Amino acid sequence: MVKIDLRSDTVTKPTTGMLEAIMTARIGDDVFGEDESVSELEHKLAALFNMEAGLFCPSGTMTNQIAIKCFTQPMDEVICDQTAHVYRYEGGGIAYHSLASVRLLNGPRGILTAEMIEREINEENIHYPNSSLVVLENTVNKGGGACYTLKDIEPIHQLSKARGLKLHLDGARIFNALVATGDQAYDYGSYFDGISVCLSKGLGAPVGSVLLGSKEMIQKAKKIRKVFGGGMRQAGFLAAAGIYALDHHVNRLSLDHAHAKVLGGVLSKTKYVSGVMPVETNIVLFDIHESFSTAGIISELNKRGILCNATGPKTIRFVTHLDVSAEMIEQTADILKNLIP
Ligand SMILES: *Cc1c(COP(=O)(O)O)cnc(C)c1O
Repeated sequence: MVKIDLRSDTVTKPTTGMLEAIMTARIGDDVFGEDESVSELEHKLAALFNMEAGLFCPSGTMTNQIAIKCFTQPMDEVICDQTAHVYRYEGGGIAYHSLASVRLLNGPRGILTAEMIEREINEENIHYPNSSLVVLENTVNKGGGACYTLKDIEPIHQLSKARGLKLHLDGARIFNALVATGDQAYDYGSYFDGISVCLSKGLGAPVGSVLLGSKEMIQKAKKIRKVFGGGMRQAGFLAAAGIYALDHHVNRLSLDHAHAKVLGGVLSKTKYVSGVMPVETNIVLFDIHESFSTAGIISELNKRGILCNATGPKTIRFVTHLDVSAEMIEQTADILKNLIP
């Protein structure tokens, strides 16, 4: 039985075209600054987002944690939503690497506004940690792939600038947000001090994330990456996959979004689902009706070849991606309709 893997958009395997790009990559020792593919990838993304420089890292956790370390001093405070990946899923890295505390907000579906943030910025006072950084996530993973538009971000940018805080974007799925909103990557550069972009999520590359920022910030980031153990040698094989993904796998994200909408529509009509979060991108979060067991539903889906994860006691997540075809979506829709007779 062919498995339909809806657990995450990280499970994609390189396509034939991507493998070819990997095989023919121009490589060198990137710790010596000699890997042409890594440099090309860093320049390409920096230019795309109108940022001065980029830094290729092994993971999005590393790009985020390096950015936080660049933008804070020990005893500072980071402001983010309580669902934020940087807080929940990076192993307490903010405390460990940066010796900073975190101020958590509770935005609807993880989306923050300038008003919410302004209330949480500390005044100068010896009792208070120094608020120095705001982190936004776009799309919001725990918000079911909810998007900020640049219009939403503009007042947050203005506030951060006026109050002397840095603004970092966890853009693990920024290309999903760009495709869904129609906003331009180029315009993001003037709003953020740091941007993390994942290549290994919806873009379908096997490994890697790129941190974008000013020349000065990226210089500092490079040193921190080395200390974190993230200086890689012939990383051009991975960077070549990233370049290929940027050239071939961005526009097709709209297909993943359409697929997610189909699944959301089908789920909302079943009796075992009590609610589906509005589907904006490639993530479908849905709640299981109280008279059904979440583990039971997942196990029934597994038996029929559909893999997925629970993200809460009553919540299941589907993520669509490059390796889920239109035919698989049709098959999944049929299975979902007939799951409970
Ligand atoms: C996946 C993800 C990351 C980075 O995860 P890695 O597995 O470390 O690459 C960061 N932020 C969000 C919102 C993510 O979904």
